Amino acid sequence: MQIIKMFEAKQIVFSFEIFPPKITSPIETIYKTLAALQDLKPDYISVTYGAGGNISDNRTSELSSLVKNKYGIESLAHLTCINSSKVAVDIILQNLKEQGVENILALRGDIPKQIEAIGEFNYAYELIEYIKQKNGFGIAAACYPEGHMDADSLQQDIEALKIKVDAGTDYLITQLFFDNNYFYDFMDLALQKGIDIPIQAGIMPAANKRQIERIVSLCGAAVPNKFIKIMNKYEHDQQALQDAGIAYAVEQIIDLISSGVRGIHLYTMNNPYIARKITENISTVLKFANNRKDID
Ligand code: FAD
Repeated sequence: MQIIKMFEAKQIVFSFEIFPPKITSPIETIYKTLAALQDLKPDYISVTYGAGGNISDNRTSELSSLVKNKYGIESLAHLTCINSSKVAVDIILQNLKEQGVENILALRGDIPKQIEAIGEFNYAYELIEYIKQKNGFGIAAACYPEGHMDADSLQQDIEALKIKVDAGTDYLITQLFFDNNYFYDFMDLALQKGIDIPIQAGIMPAANKRQIERIVSLCGAAVPNKFIKIMNKYEHDQQALQDAGIAYAVEQIIDLISSGVRGIHLYTMNNPYIARKITENISTVLKFANNRKDID
């Protein structure tokens, strides 16, 4: 099923993101995680794509197929294009089609530092136009409530986003953010620009201080004081940090749902404990919101 149909049927689409195991580990190492995530009944699971763009050591297609065909959950395969030729993209699309994977998160990917980009695709919108010609795939794209790192301003980023949406994006997933006010301001600006497709909020719970610091340095998300205090206070107690991070993420999600968000995309970091705790904590709120849509 194309994921956009889920947005048509319910108020809030709830999904998980996972990353494939390293190429040196057997694919089976992810089975336990997937079985645990399956119990939580997400609407779909997305699978990240290695930045290198090398088809031979990329497991995204394999894992997306596994999610769909072994675990019976709709899957969304991430695909970056900056390091890929059209021929390489064709091979991946064909493979996904053969495996029955119907949804792609079409991304540019980060500009490579060491090597020259291939140059056949320069922006995500070009990949979206390309996939659109192939027919049959639902297409999601990324957006950035605080603006993308390469953009001169949030306004300029939203203008570029409009081009990406018009190229054939069904719905958007945001970069992680820790302060919902950025998300609400971004939603207003996007709507003013005529972007009215569903936008899923990407939420990353804190599980590990160093990991969060690394991710924040890569994406530039603002970190509120309340969040910094949690990380500093519990950095040496893994369980306490995880539980405080879960509570913070739950508060963020409940505020988003109460404010009418169309979806929550949880960056699980392959940690089923965190995914389970969050799902349990928001389940009645999710159910209420989705029942309301049925009534409307
Ligand atoms: P684009 O939409 O092409 O934008 C990139 C930059 O170019 C922006 O600054 C934008 O303002 C500008 N721009 C875009 N279009 C135009 C235009 N027409 N004219 C002028 N400027 C323009 N990376 C991975 O490697 N693997 C993953 O699996 C992965 N998953 C992700 C999932 C999500 C939900 C998100 C939010 C990001 C993910 N990323 C992933 C990171 C992403 O690849 C990087 O953020 C990348 O730098 C930008 O990708 P994009 O598709 O948003 O690019």
